[in-house]
Amino acid sequence: MYDPLTDSHPEPKQGYPASYWASTIDTFPTPIELKQHIKTDIAIIGAGYTGLSAAYHLASRYGKDVIVVDANQPGWGCSGRNAGFVLPGTGRLSLLDMEQKWGQETAMGVFNEYMLSIKSVEEMISIGQIACDKTPGGYIKLAHRRAKVSALRDQAEKLNKRFGESVRYLHSKQVARDFMNSANMYGGIYFDKCFGVNPLKLALGYHRMAESAGAKVFSNSPVTKWQQVGNVHELTTPQGQVEAQQVIIATNGYTGKDLHETVDQRHFPVMSSIIVTRPLNENELASINMQEGLMGMDTRRMKYYYRLLPDNRILFGGRGAIKGKNANKASNQKRLIDGLEATFPALKQIDISHFWSGWVSATFDNYPRIHSVENQGIHYSMGYCGSGLAFSTLAGQRLAQSICQPESLPDLPFWQSPLPKFPFSSLKRVGLSAYYAVASVRN
Ligand SMILES: Cc1cc2nc3c(=O)[nH]c(=O)nc-3n(C[C@H](O)[C@H](O)[C@H](O)COP(=O)(O)OP(=O)(O)OC[C@H]3O[C@@H](n4cnc5c(N)ncnc54)[C@H](O)[C@@H]3O)c2cc1C
Repeated sequence: MYDPLTDSHPEPKQGYPASYWASTIDTFPTPIELKQHIKTDIAIIGAGYTGLSAAYHLASRYGKDVIVVDANQPGWGCSGRNAGFVLPGTGRLSLLDMEQKWGQETAMGVFNEYMLSIKSVEEMISIGQIACDKTPGGYIKLAHRRAKVSALRDQAEKLNKRFGESVRYLHSKQVARDFMNSANMYGGIYFDKCFGVNPLKLALGYHRMAESAGAKVFSNSPVTKWQQVGNVHELTTPQGQVEAQQVIIATNGYTGKDLHETVDQRHFPVMSSIIVTRPLNENELASINMQEGLMGMDTRRMKYYYRLLPDNRILFGGRGAIKGKNANKASNQKRLIDGLEATFPALKQIDISHFWSGWVSATFDNYPRIHSVENQGIHYSMGYCGSGLAFSTLAGQRLAQSICQPESLPDLPFWQSPLPKFPFSSLKRVGLSAYYAVASVRN
């Protein structure tokens, strides 16, 4: 598999990964490759949620001329292969971490932005009439150890005061009775505003919306060279060139090692993998008692996440391999199967129908940035740390605002500084191996 830490860019024409989501699509849009020299106001690199949402908002709201180029096809990156959890959050900072870092008022402002990000996905689905199997059911975060309970309860109380009934703490018996019956679970916090989607259908919907608004989207056109001459950026692809006043980097976890110095060493690609089971039978469904559409995640350092899909399969995800070349090794699939069986003992030895992986983007200080480099016409949004479906949709809108109407941005930390560089960058993977070893012992 492509490895952003060692490869310059994803090779084109790879086709979508053999995910469960790809198996649900009857007809993919015909990929159109860039084969000309083209001038535009704004070039966007990457056709995932970030790039397509930015393209849609720039074209529809601000009347900008926009070109999007992707190394493969729209939604080929994380946006077409994630778990489809539409969640109020991004990054890895808890509410408590944010309060300590920025104070209570800003932390709540950030959480407000998270709630808004869910609304922004709902809005896109509604405006674009995107048939993406939107499934209400809510999201539950489960304490995997007794020691995790009090922090969850505290978080629920705070959010409850601010956001009302939509966030609540549940003790373990309530969870088992009304939500799901899993092993090693000590209570949880439930968000009823969250919902599930088919992420690839959502990405293809954003693609249609961006094109209908007037943006041009080119597939199989990786940017292989980037030159800046005065205020003009020249992006070279294998068969074409884009000349733009402004460029948005929307490559997140798929950002290759040489794309641009602006993002160099400021993010760390980490692999997340998913297995999907065959549809559960009635006995299996009764024994796990998982409510329709429910999505769950635990409090482990290396989290497991899972949901009941509309056709009664279980999707189960967690950490993947460290290097791209090891993505498809049986040991990675086995680790997830072990996690699935430990969480739902009733599903021991169930058949697995799909297994795939993707790259999320971790940052040094655990939260993303939506950043504009002063006087350079370069903008980026990245570093969602594994939780970016909803946030990247809103980030696309915020990028458009930041270019066309910066004074309209709320006062939040996301756009107040660039992503910090990782110190000892070349040792990141050694550090990740050590982290996984410690995490597996602690879990
Ligand atoms: C297994 C997995 C499960 C996940 N589950 C969830 C979830 O349930 N909920 C959630 O909130 N988040 C989840 N995420 C994270 C979420 O999917 C991402 O945060 C989000 O999709 C990021 O969107 P994006 O548009 O920024 O990037 P991407 O969708 O990754 O798009 C980046 C694009 O950039 C392109 N690109 C890279 N380099 C170049 C180049 N040189 N030239 C041209 N194009 C280039 C790539 O081809 C790619 O299509 C998950 C991620 C993974 C991997």
